[in-house]
Amino acid sequence: MKKQLLIGGAQVETADYTILYAPYSGEAIAEIANAGLAEADQAIEAAVAARPAMRRMPAHQRAAILYRVAQLLGERKEEAARLIALEAAKPLKAAYAEVDRTVQTYLFAAEEAKRLHGETIPLDAAPGGEGRLAYTTREPIGVVGAITPFNFPMNLVAHKLGPAFASGNAVVLKPAPQTPLSAFYIAGLFAEAGLPAGALNVITGDGKLLGEKITTDPRVGAISFTGSAAVGASIRAMAGLKKVTLELGSNAAVIIDKDANLDAVAARCAVGAFSNQGQVCISLQRIYVVEELYEAFVAKLVAAVGQLKVGDPLDPATDVSALIAGREVTRTLGWIAEAAERGATVACGGTAEGGVLLPTVLLNVPPDAQVSCKEAFAPIVLVGKVGSIDEAIALVNDSPYGLQAGIYTNDLRTALDAADALHVGGVMINDIPTFRVDHMPYGGVKESGLGREGIKYAIEDMTELKLVVINRN
Ligand code: NAD
Repeated sequence: MKKQLLIGGAQVETADYTILYAPYSGEAIAEIANAGLAEADQAIEAAVAARPAMRRMPAHQRAAILYRVAQLLGERKEEAARLIALEAAKPLKAAYAEVDRTVQTYLFAAEEAKRLHGETIPLDAAPGGEGRLAYTTREPIGVVGAITPFNFPMNLVAHKLGPAFASGNAVVLKPAPQTPLSAFYIAGLFAEAGLPAGALNVITGDGKLLGEKITTDPRVGAISFTGSAAVGASIRAMAGLKKVTLELGSNAAVIIDKDANLDAVAARCAVGAFSNQGQVCISLQRIYVVEELYEAFVAKLVAAVGQLKVGDPLDPATDVSALIAGREVTRTLGWIAEAAERGATVACGGTAEGGVLLPTVLLNVPPDAQVSCKEAFAPIVLVGKVGSIDEAIALVNDSPYGLQAGIYTNDLRTALDAADALHVGGVMINDIPTFRVDHMPYGGVKESGLGREGIKYAIEDMTELKLVVINRN
């Protein structure tokens, strides 16, 4: 299968192509076009040319296109899930869940397209404002640059395209080099649903070259980026005065108080730590348990991990499969070794089978070991013993990141105090930090990002607020 660029509604050949390999089997699955700066320029120009059509398009029509994409994707769930499983090594059951969520994301976008309203402002609240009527509208920014990561190749693309089209923008999309097929697949659905040519352009190739071009080109009005903190910081530094939304990484944590139901909590923690082999921005990486429950919790968590099936992502029974690349296995084994040298215990896992890092539980990890203070992005979870909830909160906050955090407690005061004290974008009470549905405001503080997604919130960064004042005097 050869995948050309999508520019101005046409498939565009490039001088060379990169072979895409399936992470689990190692088989070659496609040849992906390598865009250079000239093609990136054409893609941006095509988006600029599509701006008037998108801006003129009535809200009901923008909504109809988004509804249609959701419907087409729902009908082709099997095919779409297999594509994700193949290119990302995402276990099929998680890939189905991603497709379901992607459908939801487009449905929310369709609904938001109809709710883009402003407000009236009582200007006579200020002396000199008498006799004037004021209202605001939301205008599309024009061209949105969308740069996406490999780990949710369909739904994170939807978190860019959904709000951008709902609010009347054109898009240049640069998907992750590891997972371009899901992006091309969705682009095909948009064409089928009647999106004007040029409103969506997809370019693939060198991430740095193309990402920097999109970020710095003055014709692109806003950048919506999801990926690593390092790239996010470089985008922010290069973007000048553009609107920038950054959805970055974390080493998310949960706190377990003394009244927790350990069976349920341990099962849920296994889901949070090992779904998509931990390659989730809110993957559960650190668990802090009050000392009276610590031993019992560790035993139940290790038992839950023992139930996970490791192997081929295309096997419907598989829970944990290969990391996106072999070098990630080498990196994470090194981090585990470093923690072990510094006194940590490997309660289970800690080794690899081919490209698969076995689900790993580590105990007694020093807080400054890499596997604790950096983002693991792998099936690794640490369990630590704490003397108090305050100590746990301090440990959770002792992180360069702050995306989401969770606390299991039945004490209302403890829950509300933790909600205040945890320095993150979202606090989950009686759940893991990995909880997300697609319309909630989602994003981080510190090195976890800037701005919020969740269609309605993302639209704020893809539109400009315009004020109109009518003088009746
Ligand atoms: P990455 O930062 O390596 O790549 C993300 C995208 O940026 C890719 O499309 C890549 O080609 C592009 N890119 C690379 N260099 C660039 C540059 N210099 N300028 C502009 N673009 C550039 O991330 P990844 O490995 O694909 O994804 C994993 C990361 O994404 C993790 O840190 C994870 O936590 C984060 N993530 C965050 C969220 C969230 O919503 N907060 C969701 C999923 C993933």
